[in-house]
Order: sequence, then structure tokens, then C-alpha cells
Amino acid sequence: MESHWAWRYEGYDPSQERLREALCTLGNGRFATRGAACELPAGPVHYPGTYVAGCYNRLTSHVAGRDVDNEDMVNLPNWLPLRVRAAGGGWFTPDDTSVLDWAQVLDMREGTLTRRMRLRDAGGRELELAETRLVHMADPYTAGQRLTLTAHGWDGDVEIEGGLDGNVSNAGVERYRDLDGRHLAGLRAGTAGTDTVFLTCRTSASDIKVAMAARIRRAGGPPGSVHLAAGGGTAVCRMTVRVTRGEPVAVEKTVALHTSRDPAIADPLHAALARVARAPDFGALLASHSAAWHRLWARAELTVPGEAGNVLRLHLFHVLQTLSPHTADLDAGVPARGLHGEAYRGHVFWDELFVLPFLNLHLPEVSRALLTYRHRRLDAACRAAAAEGRAGAMYPWQSGSDGREETQRLHLNPRSGRWLPDHSHLQHHVGSAVAYNVWQYCLASGDTAFLHTEGAEMLVQVARFWAHSAVWDAGHGRYRILGIMGPDEYHDAYPDAAEPGLDDNAYTNVTAAWVLARAVELCRTMPAPRREELFERLGLDGDEPALWEDVSRRLRVPFHSGVISQFDGYGNLAELDWEGYRARYGDIRRLDRILEAEGDTVNRYQASKQADVLMLGYLFPPAELAALFGQLGYPMDDATWQATVDHYLARTSHGSTLSGLVHGWVLARSRRTDAWAYVREALLGDVADLQGGTTGEGIHLGAMGGTLDLVQRGLTGLQPRADTLRLDPVPLPELSRFHLSLRYRTHWGVGLTLQSGQLRIRVPTSDQDPIPVSLDGRTYAIAPGSELTVDLPAA
Ligand code: BGC
Repeated sequence: MESHWAWRYEGYDPSQERLREALCTLGNGRFATRGAACELPAGPVHYPGTYVAGCYNRLTSHVAGRDVDNEDMVNLPNWLPLRVRAAGGGWFTPDDTSVLDWAQVLDMREGTLTRRMRLRDAGGRELELAETRLVHMADPYTAGQRLTLTAHGWDGDVEIEGGLDGNVSNAGVERYRDLDGRHLAGLRAGTAGTDTVFLTCRTSASDIKVAMAARIRRAGGPPGSVHLAAGGGTAVCRMTVRVTRGEPVAVEKTVALHTSRDPAIADPLHAALARVARAPDFGALLASHSAAWHRLWARAELTVPGEAGNVLRLHLFHVLQTLSPHTADLDAGVPARGLHGEAYRGHVFWDELFVLPFLNLHLPEVSRALLTYRHRRLDAACRAAAAEGRAGAMYPWQSGSDGREETQRLHLNPRSGRWLPDHSHLQHHVGSAVAYNVWQYCLASGDTAFLHTEGAEMLVQVARFWAHSAVWDAGHGRYRILGIMGPDEYHDAYPDAAEPGLDDNAYTNVTAAWVLARAVELCRTMPAPRREELFERLGLDGDEPALWEDVSRRLRVPFHSGVISQFDGYGNLAELDWEGYRARYGDIRRLDRILEAEGDTVNRYQASKQADVLMLGYLFPPAELAALFGQLGYPMDDATWQATVDHYLARTSHGSTLSGLVHGWVLARSRRTDAWAYVREALLGDVADLQGGTTGEGIHLGAMGGTLDLVQRGLTGLQPRADTLRLDPVPLPELSRFHLSLRYRTHWGVGLTLQSGQLRIRVPTSDQDPIPVSLDGRTYAIAPGSELTVDLPAA
């Protein structure tokens, strides 16, 4: 099966720079740097950004007459600066010279970005420049650049300047322009030896010390005259070399980035200087970097032919750059926008629900670390629940450094220019996402040590929160969860209500019932000493599981007109004139902003931003979903589910990149012919910037991870279980050929290949037991070193 490894842009287009920067970001799970031009600083066109996972800082800003507190993932000093000018001329940059030729290639196999330009300055001098950069995948503190320049038609002296720029702030998101973005303090620039410059600073409130060192050398030639300079927040190395027409000259820049959070260092500056001093040349760095990438690709093989395969490879590349094996050593969660930009301030949302199921089957140690990030903040979640007078854990909708609620209380509608109250912190369903991920991770990995300790603590505390949030309603003869928000962010209140919040969001209630049932099951099945420890540690009352069981069976799910209601009273809301709005506005993905700017509110309408009820079909395979509704005492037949799918399909604007993905996933099972349009939307979401300018502010990691999982689990129906690997394929005609390999418990490199209407499962040679695979009502034992091929029914 052919495979794609290059992501390419031809021609310089300033209007596309932000998008390309985000999509050409390089990272290693510990830090990432946007694919910005190295010749130019931040401005209207360019936005270099470097972010370390988990490096946050809090600032207070005054907006709309109020003080607002925001914690941001901090944009650190820019290590990219590297530029050239002819003696007496201006700098060669795509903005200041004639661009004769320009191309940029992300080589995903090797993990490099190469920018090639042919520029002509005002003096008529032509220069060919090729810059290759990497953010090292084996040594997570190192990055590097090699710049090769060739003069065409002239000889002369050129000045090459490379360095570090500390004059940066968080300014990458236009909507946040009224918020303070100056997170760095105590900036100090310096030089060391004959070829090294450095910068140190600290984050103003979280007091994380940051040091960067850069060593700049000419490769394979006399160094020419070199001058190091530091001051004004920058440190540079200037080198003058003689160029002769047609003869390439190369310089190499090696960068080390340390923070006071790093293990096994004395201080960040010493560590950074020592690291660049002992770093090998660019060629050797590139070799060890690409070897690390090759190892990583072997653990996450996914080959899909055609354009879809190209995009999926890019998605996988960005997922692996954000969450790599290095992440396993960090205290960091899943940033919704990657380490690729400043939108959502680097916060951690429920989006991990779309990413961990993929990682579980490749890098389970990374999933475990990401769940540990949540476990370390379990106490904060319990304190948040207690502050609301409830038991258990109330995880924040947006999480950052210490697990407090980071959701902004005001947001700007750029269409109306108004700052509006933001109630999205009422999305308590994030706790169920954490519990779901604990369960899925443990099923895929068999990590019972985690399930019975940290995993159980989180799952039980989330269950407890739901049990204590549910209020008994004698009229309905049901438990209800009141005053919350579901995943659909358009609805945060009943029209004309004084207080925000909605009652009985179906997604929240059904997933809460699922969590409660798992907590009961876990307490019943875990070894008695562990159970006793757990009850003691959490101060659980022996009667609590009986309450969980009761609530898990009697939570209310509202219905109207034969379909599941998104929340109680949803069926009474007005119908929107979808065609009229589409005709008037074209793109109505952000219908909430359009209506608010018109003086109306989306709360009045049966209109959703994103999949909400249909998320249930994303999380639970059909049989499990039917069983879950059965547990709640609601019959759920195919016809009701189909009608529910149709209802929301017609009333969703897809203002979140997660929406197309979920619809595609659900439709692949329920109405295959319509699925591709949504899968395609999920695939194009970032590469075509479908949400209109948002990708430049950071990729959408949930949608990227979700599309990978769509192939891995959605189309194969794969469910890892303790005793079997279940498969229930539903190939889409447009994605009917693929190959992937995954790790199922102790079996590494299990191959799944779909081709010519057949599914082949290959278990690599090992001395382990056969894998029981259940498919189409039969169970097959596939011994290591053998394979099974089954014919799939025609679509
Ligand atoms: C979506 C949320 C999502 C968040 C972060 C929002 O636009 O509505 O579901 O968690 O983005 O990706």
C-alpha cells in the first residue's frame, strides 16, 4: 500500500502563513515550535511561537470593566532567528525582497521542515536559501537548524545573523488582544565562548525559570569573522563570510531549551549551555532524530492510500509531536490545540476523549501519563465538588497547571464586539470523559495495577459526584441532573431564564449512568484488599455503591417526538430557518455569534453547535448503547436511534471540528452513504482551515486524534477486551483500503489490513499465547506468527 510522507506548500502567500505555521509546527511532546519564517519576527503575517508542555502562567487583565484572570500556555523566547544580508544590503526575507521561488516541505518520516527560497534583494543580488530545522525527538531539550545559502550571479561578503529573541509575548490570537500577554520577566541575554549565546527569563507568576542557549557555527569552512552580542532581550551571533557564485555556504545552529521543571539538572542555564556545548553537528543530530522518528512510526503504523492517507499521516504526525513517549515523563495533559498555538490558552478539555483511545493501542505509557495528569488533580476536582456542596470529583471544563477551573467567565463575540458571559464551566460531563478514558485505557492495556489504584480513585470519585448531583424527582419517578451544560456549547440556558444551566442533558445523564455502573462493577470485581484500601482512602461509605447502582438505573433521559431530547424541554424550542440563515450568511458554523450579533440568542432554537446526543453513538457501539438504555429502563430500538440521528443531523451547524468527526463515525454505522461527507469535513478541518482562521491559532488535536481512531476503531469496530479482541468492520467505500498495526496488551505490532473486501489480522511471532479474535459471531484464536483473513460482506 503506497504511503505519503511529505506535506508541501509551493509559493509564498502571506495570507496563508499563520495556517502553514501551525501545520508545519515541529515538536517532540515536550516542546514545539511553530513553522514560522526564521528571517522575521512576530507581526501581522508571521507568528513564531515556542511552547513547553505544561508551562503555564497566570495574569490578570482588565476587560469590559472587570478584572479577569487567565492562565496561558506561555510563548517562550523565539529560537528561530537566522537571516542573511549582502554587505551593505537589506536582509533577505520573503517580505523585503522579490520572491523568485518559494517552497516549504514537512518531511514527516524524518520529522524535519525544509524551507527553500530564491530571493532577489534591492541591489539585484539573487540568493538561494534552504533552511532545514528539527525539534529533536530523541533528545527532548534540543532543536537545530541548518541554513545553506548559494549566491547566483555574484560574489561578495554576506553577513549571517542567528540568535535568540526574548522580546515575545502571547499575542497569537486576535480575540485575546485586550488580555495581558506579557508572561516573561527577568529577561537576560548573554554570550558564552566564541560561538554561543543565551537567554534566561522566568514566567512572571508561576516562576518557571527558562534558559535557551544557541551555538552557531559555519559548517565545513573557515568561520570568517564572528561577533557575539547580547542586550535588549536578544542575543545574536553575527558572522561575515565570503560567498562565491554557485558555491553553497552552510551554517548550523544548535539550540537547547531547559526549564526549572526539568529533572536531573542543577539550573536551566547551566544545563542549556552544557547541552549545546556537547551537541554533535547537525548531520549527527539529524541522524539520531530521524532514527527516533522511525522507531515512533513503527509503533503507530497507519497507511491509507490517496489524499485521505496524506491528511491522516499529517494528523498522526501532529498527535505524535504533541504527545510523544517524552510526554510519559511530564506532568501534562492533552492540550486541545496542540503545542501549536495559543487558542484556548493551551488548556486541557474533554478533547482527550478523542485522543486517548487512539494512543491506548500504540503508546499506552503516554495514555497512562495523561491520566496521571488528571489523577494529580483529583484533589482539586474533589475540592471543586465540595465547594458546590457535592461529594466526589468535579473536574474543571478547562484545566491547566493546578486543576482549578480555568474556563474564562467572559468571551468576546468578534462579530458584535461584545464581551459576553461564558457558562461553559457547567460542562461537568468532562468528568465522565476522564472515567471513560480510564476504563478504555485499562481494557486496551490490561493495566490492572492502574485500574485498581489511581484509575479506581478517579472513576469512583466521578461516579460519586454524579450520584450526589442527581436529585430524585417523585413526579417523574426518576433521578435528574439539573442546571448543567452538555457538549453542545450553543445551549447554556433556557430562553429567558435568569440563571444559566439546562436539565437532564441526555449525553450527561447516559454517560453518568455508564460511569456509575462501571464504578459498581469495579468495586465488585477488584481484589478485596484493594477495595478496602480504596474505601478507606476515599472515605467511602459501604452503602454508597447501592446508591450508585440505583442512580445508574433510574436517571432520566428526555424524549420528544420519538427521538432522544438533547435536554429537557429541547422539543419546545423554536425551529431555526436554516435555509434562510445559510442564504444570508453562507458559513453559519458559528450561528451563536451570528444570532447574538443580531440581538437574538441561539438558546431559543433547536440548533446545535456540535454532536451532543449523537456523542452517545460515538462512545458506545450499538449493542452497548442499547444495553445502556436498557439498564436505564428505556427501550432503544434501531428506529428510535435512526430518527434521533436524522433529527440532530438536520439541526447541527458543526461549529466545532469534533462535530464532523462524530457524525461521520456514527453515520458509518447507521447510514453509510452519508458518512463520507462528514468524515471528509473532519479530514479537511485543519488542513483547509474550515472553521475560518482558527487553525492558525493552533491545530484541533481532538479532531486529528479522532480521525485516526475513526480508521482504527470506528471502521474496524475494534474493541479491546480482557478476553478477546472484538472486531465488527464497517468499511466506508472511500476508506476501504488501509493497514495499521497496534499494540493489544502484551502483543506488539498486531497488523490489521483491509483490502479487496477482506480483513487480514496478523499476529507477529512471539512466544505468547494466541489472541482470541471475535468477529461475526465467531471466535478465532490467532497464534503468534500466523494470520487470519476474513471476507467482509459487500457494503
Ligand atoms: C468545542 C468543545 C471543545 C473545545 C476545545 C470547542 O469549540 O465546542 O467541545 O472541547 O472547543 O477543543
